[in-house]
Amino acid sequence: MNNGGYVYLVGAGPGDLQLMTLKARRCVEMADVILYDRLVNPLLLEWTKPDCEHIYCGKLPKRHLLRQEAINEKLVQYGSEGKIVVRLKGGDPSVFGRVGEEAHALDEAGVQYEIVPGITAGIGAATYAGIPVTHRDHSASFTVVTGHDKSEKGEPLIDWQALARGSDTIAFYMGVKNLGYIANQLTLHGKPKETPVILIQWGTLGSQKTVSGTLETIAEEVSKSNLTNPAITLVGDVANIRKEPSWFERKPLFGQHILLGRTSGSQGAVAHELEELGAEVFEFPRMYSKTAEKPQADFRNFDQIVFLSPESVEIFFNWLRADKVDLRDIRAAFHVRSKKSERALEKYGCFTSELSKVKDGCSKVLLLGNAHSANDKVLLTDTWGPHEYVITHHDLVVSSTDVTCERLKDEGRIQTIVFPSAQSVQTVSDRFMKMGWSIEEINETVKVICFGSMSEKAALSAGYKVDVVLESPTKEALIKALIQSNITEVVK
Ligand code: SAH
Repeated sequence: MNNGGYVYLVGAGPGDLQLMTLKARRCVEMADVILYDRLVNPLLLEWTKPDCEHIYCGKLPKRHLLRQEAINEKLVQYGSEGKIVVRLKGGDPSVFGRVGEEAHALDEAGVQYEIVPGITAGIGAATYAGIPVTHRDHSASFTVVTGHDKSEKGEPLIDWQALARGSDTIAFYMGVKNLGYIANQLTLHGKPKETPVILIQWGTLGSQKTVSGTLETIAEEVSKSNLTNPAITLVGDVANIRKEPSWFERKPLFGQHILLGRTSGSQGAVAHELEELGAEVFEFPRMYSKTAEKPQADFRNFDQIVFLSPESVEIFFNWLRADKVDLRDIRAAFHVRSKKSERALEKYGCFTSELSKVKDGCSKVLLLGNAHSANDKVLLTDTWGPHEYVITHHDLVVSSTDVTCERLKDEGRIQTIVFPSAQSVQTVSDRFMKMGWSIEEINETVKVICFGSMSEKAALSAGYKVDVVLESPTKEALIKALIQSNITEVVK
């Protein structure tokens, strides 16, 4: 069978988006259908094509077997239909990920596939907690063990003696419930009861938490702390290497979960910088630009052309190319209203003129922008004077972005909302309303930061309680406010 159908069994890494491999990211971007697990960071679903079908395969306890069969069937079905299918799993697909069963089903059905490894939680979570799983002075071996079994009691069936004696560092997966049993077995079979143990919950994510102890004390420490799965239990002397807090937990914005309001398709540099500082950032809603139909207008006839967004710049040059219009025949001066549009123009070797010249009244002015701005006739005329308007594109919301938003909210991962503009208040609130959320409900758990007085006014009139208005509408001011307001400890 060769109808283009192909299945990728992909490891998504332990949580932090940046820990995906380049190959995994490419698979996600190509997918026609994506089947993902509960432990996969919902944020990476934002990398799919706008029309990609998303299928959630969260496990239903007790119905595990049936679920897995149903998943195998779906992989075969979509692969046979000629689709690019991505089966996305937390960590590495071969480590307690049942990839063998899925690969077998695909082999049987003659559907082509490949397996993309990922960083497994036992290593990723340990590293982000500041612990190397091996160390020349403390550990010469590392073992990955399940802390759970499919039997009635769920206790793992392991050669405890071999494990206790043969491995310096042990990572137990899915082991929180059986922690007491595990610690007991290891001690009974020869591990000293003083052996250090650490549990790392939600490793590599902003919600990362740890609880430390020894084989003797850990079960009690963990029950006091209410820490639950998903967590890795790391046993061995390496656990003592950890410095509290770890390099990851020391990042200035560690633990902050930010929803950054967005109004157009372009990605913001702000998000990137906040992430580097340790925050988790969800740019919402996710949008994409759909190019409008090419207009009849002859661009050679204008004196001034105003680009209202970087997308408009790109589309304008595409249209010129399509009509075989030489750029040297365009006599208009170019204007922009953002740095991003300016940079987009510079890529084509074009520079912008002073804005004041636009409104001199006697020239023919053309505005290029999205469909939304076209309706803002009053504002446009006030700012730019008499003009013609050509719609270059429509900024459309990708519907699956709401699913990502709902999952993040359920997991307590929306703690601060940042509104960079008045329009973003409108765009974000529309989505909230669509999901059936009230602003009062949002106010209970979330802090709101506005870039300036316009966004503040819009947020207040939409019903938000605004906590911070930035000193200046800049990335630097936002970072300062986030660090200062110590948002980490708030909410719930
Ligand atoms: N294939 C995955 C493991 C799946 S089994 C991998 O290679 O990582 C699910 C278990 O993995 C969870 O119960 C938990 O023990 C562990 N786990 C997954 N993600 C984790 C994370 N971010 N932090 C801590 N443990 C995690």
